[in-house]
Amino acid sequence: MICDKCQKQAAYSRKYSGENLCSECFANSILRKAARTISKHKMIKNNELVCVAVSGGKDSLVLLDVLNKMSKTHNFRIFAVTIDEGIPGYRDEALKIVEKFCARLNVEHRTFSYKELFDLTLEESLELRNGQKPSSCSICGTFRRRALDHAAKIINADVIATGHNLDDVVQTFLINILSGDTNKIGWMDPDISSNKVRKIKPFSEIYESEIVFYAFTNDLPFQTEPCPHMNEGIRTEIREFLNSLESNHIGVKNNIYSSILKISQFTNKVSHKEKRICLVCGNQCTGKICSVCNMITDLKSK
Ligand code: SF4
Ligand SMILES: [Zn+2]
Ligand SMILES: [Zn+2]
Repeated sequence: MICDKCQKQAAYSRKYSGENLCSECFANSILRKAARTISKHKMIKNNELVCVAVSGGKDSLVLLDVLNKMSKTHNFRIFAVTIDEGIPGYRDEALKIVEKFCARLNVEHRTFSYKELFDLTLEESLELRNGQKPSSCSICGTFRRRALDHAAKIINADVIATGHNLDDVVQTFLINILSGDTNKIGWMDPDISSNKVRKIKPFSEIYESEIVFYAFTNDLPFQTEPCPHMNEGIRTEIREFLNSLESNHIGVKNNIYSSILKISQFTNKVSHKEKRICLVCGNQCTGKICSVCNMITDLKSK
C-alpha cells in the first residue's frame, strides 16, 4: 500500500475518506485538521497565551505536541497546566510523564491541585458523600472546570485548550441527551466567544483512533493506566455503542458531530441564561451560588 501524497509506504488507511497515508503525511494531516478547526471557529487569536490542559493521557500529550509545533509558525504562545485531582497512584505517574515531556519540548508547566483550591482531594470528596451520588466524574468534572479557570487566570492566559477529540464530544452529546440536560447541549457550541477565557477543543473534529495513531508513531510517552473511576458512569457503554455503530456505518461519528454543531448553536440561543456572580466565591455562574460552592457545601454537610 502506497501513500497517496508522497509514494512512500503507507502506514494508515483512513476508512471514512479512503485515503492511504505514510506516518509523516498522516502527522501532517492531523496538524492541518487541527489548524482548520482552530481557524474555522476563531479559537486562537494573534498574540494570545494558550493554557494547554495536560493530564498525561494520549489526547493531552498529542495536543501539547501539535500546539507546540503550530506555535513555532503562528503568532501565539503556550503554557502547560496539569490538574492534580488527588487520585492516589494514578495522577502521580501522569505528572512525571508530563513534567518530562514539557522539559523535552521546552514548554513552561505548572500543576494545580484540588486540595490547594478546594481543600478537598477527589478521594476525600468521595469519602464524604453518602452512597454513590454525586458520581465521581461529576464531582471531578465540576472541580476540574473551576481549577482550569483558576489556572488560566493565574498564568494570565486568554484561552484554555483541552484534548477532547471527536469521540469525546459525540459521547458527551449523547450523555447530555440521555440525562435531559439541554443547557449543556447549548454549551457544546464551539463559537461561544463572549466568555472571558475561551475554552477550545482543537481536536473536536479528529477521531480518537487517529490521536492514538499519532501518539504511537510520534513516540509520545502517554500514561496508559486508566483512572480507577473511569467505568463508574455511562460513558464507557456509550463509547462501545458508538464504536460498534461506526464499524458498521463508517462516518457516523462525523455525521453526529455535524448535527451537534447545528443543534448546540440553536440550543445555546434559546436557552441563554443571564450570567451572575456567585455570592460565596465571586465566580461567574447562572444562579445565586455556583455549582462548585454548592458541591463543596453539600459534601461537607454530609
Ligand atoms: S474518569 Fe472521572 S474521576 Fe477519573 S479523572 Fe476522569 S472525570 Fe475524574
Ligand atoms: Zn506520505
Ligand atoms: Zn461559588
